[in-house]
Amino acid sequence: MAFESLTDKLQNVFKNLRSKGRLTEDDVKAALKEVKLALLEADVNFKVVKQFIKAVEERAIGADVMNGLNPGQMVIKIVNEEMVALMGSETTEIAFQPGKAITVIMMCGLQGAGKTTTTAKIAGKLKLKGKTPLLAACDVYRPAAIKQLQINGEKQKVEVFSMGENQKPANIAKAAIEHAKKNGNNVVILDTAGRLHVDEEMMEELQEIKKAVEVHQTLLVVDAMTGQDAVTVAKAFNDQIGIDGVILSKMDGDTRGGAALSVKAVTGKPILYVGMGEKLSDLEQFYPDRMASRILGMGDVLSLIEKAQENISIDENKEKEMASRMKKGKFDFDDYLESMKQMRNMGGLASILKMLPGTGGKGMDLESMIDEKQLARTEAIIFSMTPAERKNPKLLNPSRKHRIARGAGVDIAVVNRFIKQFEQSQKMMKQMPGLMGGKRGRGGFG
Ligand code: GDP
Repeated sequence: MAFESLTDKLQNVFKNLRSKGRLTEDDVKAALKEVKLALLEADVNFKVVKQFIKAVEERAIGADVMNGLNPGQMVIKIVNEEMVALMGSETTEIAFQPGKAITVIMMCGLQGAGKTTTTAKIAGKLKLKGKTPLLAACDVYRPAAIKQLQINGEKQKVEVFSMGENQKPANIAKAAIEHAKKNGNNVVILDTAGRLHVDEEMMEELQEIKKAVEVHQTLLVVDAMTGQDAVTVAKAFNDQIGIDGVILSKMDGDTRGGAALSVKAVTGKPILYVGMGEKLSDLEQFYPDRMASRILGMGDVLSLIEKAQENISIDENKEKEMASRMKKGKFDFDDYLESMKQMRNMGGLASILKMLPGTGGKGMDLESMIDEKQLARTEAIIFSMTPAERKNPKLLNPSRKHRIARGAGVDIAVVNRFIKQFEQSQKMMKQMPGLMGGKRGRGGFG
């Protein structure tokens, strides 16, 4: 699986970080050294790694740890954000010409990179967007390439324009655009010839096409499996003919990740799509944020961290309000319901956290602390009270208590016990006003 080794290594680093309550500068430095090694082993460009680590280190050391996160999580958050930035932050789409103008896309890349396959894959994607693409067979050196494009075009139900092998690619491109004008195609995709290595002849040919026709988007297909070589190739193409974006093919293979992480930083050009298999439907839009969490092996941990933060800050406000009511001896049954809801939230969070990588289901006794049955019973008792009773427990005379017990389907003794406990706690709160002022002090009932 792609990124497997990188992800494993990063997970180990993060596990160590998370297990520490406090992080010293040395802890962060040591962890980042591991991250650096992992990235280098994943064939990420050396300069890119250096800059990346520097950026993370600057932010991580001395960073204020955000509310609701521990220092380890804070470092993970920063690594994630920098990784997303490294890959370009935003998702980039093919830019089309406005209105009815024809958009000309030139596909280029080395032989075997997956150019012809990707050309057909993109045509399929564009059709879904309501475009009417025409594929032009400009690879005249490999007769098999024309045939391959025709077969793929047929599969995608997209027309393929070909003039055989005896024409110059630039002329084929010109004629294809004329054909598109007559036929009403609004996109022309030129499938050009690759070579085994970057060579002058290939670059000249591409430049000739660019001189002969107006190319609006030049897209380069590189094989992700080739790691840093893919990045070197991308740089050469960009320097010599200028590209607008990159498609990383064969990301379904055992790639170490280097290309995905380095392309944007080295060439300045974004990755638009990733090839995820040989089938013509195996092309995915590239999302830097999703790719980062995939590489970090964090699944949705990061969005979970964010969600937890939101929950906690909302809860903290409510808690403060509740604490102040407690101090004034005004804590009522509605507050009780609210505190139960918060406990439930935490229980829910506990069960999610348990599924996350790295936690291994440990340290999650929170869940077992919350007795669902007990909570449900208490809730039923409070729900059987009238709003006035909930606000003013003093109203609860024996006949009201009987009614509540019937409503909740419990014995009167259970209701009595609960109300007694409630009153005792209330009394305690009044006597110890300092008690509930703590940051995460929760109403300790039941
Ligand atoms: P071209 O020489 O650049 O036109 O490359 P082709 O389109 O002929 O592809 C070369 C080989 O790579 C073919 O066997 C394709 O099926 C395969 N290929 C292309 N894209 C992908 C991909 O995303 N994943 C996998 N696994 N194979 C791919």
